This record gives sequence, C-alpha cells and structure tokens, in this order.
Amino acid sequence: MKCDPPLYRAAPPSLAVKPRLIRHLFVPPLIILLMIALGYVTYLYSEKNAIKALGENGQRQLELHARTVESEINKYNYLPSVLELESNVSDLLNNPSAELRAKVNDYLEGLNRRSRSRAIYVLDTTGRVLATSNWRDADSYLGEDLSFRAYYQDAIRGLPGRFYGIGSTTGEPGYYLAHGLEEKGKIIGVAVIKVRLEALEERWQRARLEAFVSDENGIIILSSDPARRLKSVRPLTAEIKERLARSLQYYWWPLNELVPLERESIADGVEKLTFPANTSVDHEHTVVSYLAQTRELADTPWHLTLLTPLEDLRREAANQGMLVAVACALVAFLLIAWNERRKVISTRLAAREALEQANNELERRITDRTADLRASNERLKGQIRERRQAEETLRQAQDELIQAGKLAAIGQMSTSIAHELNQPLAALRTLSGNTVRFLERGALDTASANLRTINDLVDRMGRITASLRAFARRGEDKGQASLSKAVEAALQLLAARLDNASLELHQQIDDIELAIDQTRLEQILVNLIGNALDAMQAQPLPVLWLEGDVFEGRYRLRVRDNGHGIDAEARKHLFEPFFTTKPGEQGLGLGLTLSASLAAAAGGTLNAEDPAEGGTMFVLVLPLVDPGAAGV
Ligand code: ADP
Repeated sequence: MKCDPPLYRAAPPSLAVKPRLIRHLFVPPLIILLMIALGYVTYLYSEKNAIKALGENGQRQLELHARTVESEINKYNYLPSVLELESNVSDLLNNPSAELRAKVNDYLEGLNRRSRSRAIYVLDTTGRVLATSNWRDADSYLGEDLSFRAYYQDAIRGLPGRFYGIGSTTGEPGYYLAHGLEEKGKIIGVAVIKVRLEALEERWQRARLEAFVSDENGIIILSSDPARRLKSVRPLTAEIKERLARSLQYYWWPLNELVPLERESIADGVEKLTFPANTSVDHEHTVVSYLAQTRELADTPWHLTLLTPLEDLRREAANQGMLVAVACALVAFLLIAWNERRKVISTRLAAREALEQANNELERRITDRTADLRASNERLKGQIRERRQAEETLRQAQDELIQAGKLAAIGQMSTSIAHELNQPLAALRTLSGNTVRFLERGALDTASANLRTINDLVDRMGRITASLRAFARRGEDKGQASLSKAVEAALQLLAARLDNASLELHQQIDDIELAIDQTRLEQILVNLIGNALDAMQAQPLPVLWLEGDVFEGRYRLRVRDNGHGIDAEARKHLFEPFFTTKPGEQGLGLGLTLSASLAAAAGGTLNAEDPAEGGTMFVLVLPLVDPGAAGV
C-alpha cells in the first residue's frame, strides 16, 4: 500500500518539538500568573464589596450609637438651668453667707444624688466655687477659683458652657455643662454640672464595639479602648496646645497623636485606618485595620467614630480569592485535559481519515490495475485466438503440403509403379497362357506351380497398391507404429529400385512400438530411403545402413548412405519446402519438409548429419509408446 505522501509527511523534528517545548515552558507559569491575578482581583473585589456592605451596616450602627451618645450627654443639658429656679442659689450669689452656703450645699448634694451626676456646683461671677455637691469630700471644689475654665468663660458670657476635661482638683475626667444664672437679665453666677461618661465606654466594651468620641480639637475623650483615650486623632497646632495647657482642660496629659500606620480615605467620613495591634490582647496580628466611620454629634462640636475591624473581612476576601484561584487552576487543568483529549481525538480522526484515504486510493489502484489486467487479459486472449487461427492455418497448410507431397510422391512413383505392375501383369499373361496349355496337355503339376506363381504375383501387386493407398491416406498425429513393420513396408514399396540398384543393406533395428501413426512412419522411411537411393545412383557399390537404438527415453533411427552427400549451401535449405537439387521432374523438394513435419507432429525430430566416413545420415528421433520398456 502506498499512501498519499502529504498525509504522513511529518514535520522536521526541530520544528515539531519547538512549539511543544514552548508550551511546556510557558503554560504552567502563565497558569500560575493567571491564578494569582484572578485570586488577587477577586480578593480586591470581594474586599471592596465587603467594605461597602460593612460601611452600610456601620453607618446604621454609627447612627444608633451616635443617638445614644447624644441622648446621654444631652440629658443633663437642662440641669444647670434648674438652679435658676432655686431662690437660695440666687440669694447666695447675691449675698453669700455661711448659712445660705450650707443650704445650697445640701440642695446641690441631693440634686446630684438624684441626677446621678458626678458633681454640681455654683460659681460666682469671679469664677470661685460658692457651693458644691461634694462639699463634704476632702477634695471638694469649695472655694476654688475655676475662672480659667472655658466652660465658666462661656457661661459668664451667657453662652452654654460645654467642656470635657480632667478635673483640676480630682484629676478625674468628666463632662462639664455650665449655665449662666440670670436674674433680671443679668448674670449673677454660673451653675456647673459634671457628669461621668464612662457608662458609654463600658456599654461599648460590653457590646464589643470599637468606638471613640473626639472633641473639637480631635482629642479622644471617650474610647472603648483605654489606650486610645486622650490621644489626638489629628496633629495639634501649637496654638491649640498652648490654649489647652492654659485651660488645663486635660490637666498635664501629654496628648499624643494617635498616628495610624496607614490611612486611606474611602468616602466622606469613611476611612480605612491601620493601627499597630495591641499585642497584649491580639497575639495573632501585628497590625489591625479598621473601617473608621465618623459622624458629628448634635449640639456638640464632638465626633463619634466607629471602628469596624477589617481582619475578618480580609480573611473572607482572601478565602474567596484563594477559592477563585483554585477554581481557576481547576478550570485551567480541565481545559488542558480537554484540549489534550481533543488533540488525541483529532489525531485519531486524522489517522482514520488518512487510512480511509489510503484505502480508497488502494481500492482505486486495485480497480485500475484490475481493469488493466482485464484489458491485457483480453488482449492476450485475442492474441491466443490469433495464434490458434494461425496455427490452424499452418496446420491446414501443412496438411495440404503433406497431401501435395503425397500426390507428388504418387506422381513420382507412378512410373515405377506402372513399371512394377506391368512386369507382373506381363508375367501373369504369359503364365496364365502357359497354364492353359499345360492344363490342356494334362501337365497338372506344372499348371499348379504356375498358378501358385500367379497367386504370388497377384499378392505382390495387391501389396503395391495397398502401400500406395496407405501413402495417399491422411494419418493421425497420434498413433502407434511398429518400426520393423514400417521398415519392411517401406523396403517393399521401394523393392524395385532396391533390386535395380543392387544395394547392400545393413539393417540393425529393434522390433519396437513408436508413438506415431504407422502410415506416417512408413512415409518418412520411404522418403529417407528414396533420397538415399537417389544420392547413391552414381555409386558403384551403394550401401544403406538402417540402425536404431533407444536414446534418452526415445528411439533414434539412423538412415545412412554412402552417396554424394550434401554440400554446405544445400544443408542450409534442406528442410525448406520445394528445395531440391534433383534435375527435371525427378524432385519436388517436399519429401524432407513433410517428413520433418510428420516427425514433429508426433513429438519427434528429423535432422541431417554429415558422417566423417562420407555420405549422408538422417537421424529420426521418435517417442516410444512405452518408455518403461526402453531397455530393449
Ligand atoms: P526431392 O527428393 O524431391 O528433391 P527432398 O525434400 O526429399 O526433395 O530432398 C531435398 C534434397 O535434399 C534433395 O534434392 C537432395 O539434394 C537432398 N538430399 C536428400 N536426401 C539426400 C541424401 N541421402 N544424400 C544426399 N542428398 C540428399
């Protein structure tokens, strides 16, 4: 099978290997890069979405807690102004006396207890404490000059005094609310209430909420995390620092800045802050990131900031990123596997297609070849037909030649036959006349001797005519002949000429059966012996040798004479039809041709040889009827 070359032509090895090598070198890092990129993008996207959701939730929480803080700090707003209604207070401010002071002290003590505030006290217009709820305590404010306090300075001017600071006496932080006490449109003193806001911080801590409240200067005054308390969320200017120091608002606290490691503004009032982790609490992280949402608190210059940790969110986003990366790797793996499978299938399909094409090509070639063979077969059949016809024609020609040869032989022999028959006829006439006379005389013995001779002569004449008839008759290619009988018949046919020639005959043949028609063998022998007689006409001592033997499973008969022989030129044309050297009507040149063709038709051969001792020798080789009995 020969396949279509382009179907199986492989790419040169160098070119076939390179793309695969490149693929193997670059595809895995590419997939890893893609995994990382997709994972990271998912992480960012997830984080962004989560921050957004967190922000929305945080906004609600911020609102809720801001309201709580607002209600907590506003619930005392009215309390300082209540003192305006108390006549003892205005009396004390107008005319301070020990008795009035004691009364007001008691009153303030009771009010403070009921309102659960830290302290309530009254200042005169100079800022000195005239009466206080903690008059019994050792660190009572009584008599203290608090004119430096901002809340006093605001209140004395008729403004609401709001102040968060550390108490200069107790060192305790608190929220101060001050109110200028009026009488007849004139401020006669200031009422101050100090409240503790730690309850808020505790509530935040219990709720695990991270939040802080920063004042107008950005200083954290309330914080769920005590570490952040009294730290500024933004840098303090030198002027503010000085003002704070003068007012001793935060006593001598250093007021360090709460510096985040990282600050990223997301929206108005929303920031992402990263602080170093409180390692004593959080062992796991070194830094903590928060979503910081800030809102102004109503009626105060303060801000509430809610801190929502982003660690869980980040972990979740990282998990999602990792999940996507793994999914990406899985998809890439599936794609590669699918691609490999697809390639295998396409290779198989291509191979199958190539095989089918090769098969088709093979079938086409077989069909072509079969058609060629059929055509050449037809041609051969035609040639065989032609040959057979030619053979038939040749055979017919041969038969006709044989027939012509026979006729010629008959013509040739007719003279001698006539002569041969005339002699016995003349003898018969004489003998019959003599016999009649011998019978008339009564010489019966002589008459019967004459009649026997007549009988012999008639037999002889019958044999001559029988030979002639046999010679003229067409024989068969196949047949069986007795060699000795054939030789005898031939010699008999030529007896007259043999007698005339006074020939010396050497006969050494076997009584054997040859595979040839009897008549045909006789014809051959008549021709050969006749020719020998012709050749020896000028020979004073003509000798004819008839010798035979079995040679290579066949019988070889040699007919030799001591005649004039055959010259080289004549030898070339010996077996050609109508070749003759005999003068006039004597030769037709058909004898040898016919003899050779008869021998050949029986599967034998006829050849002429030039014996060293002179003369001519014809060698007739014929097949034996029974080659097994060839040992004769
Ligand atoms: P024909 O006898 O009619 O000539 P043949 O075919 O029998 O035809 O012989 C052809 C020729 O072969 C003869 O003319 C003769 O010259 C030559 N020839 C045949 N037999 C002999 C022989 N025994 N010796 C010499 N020449 C022969």
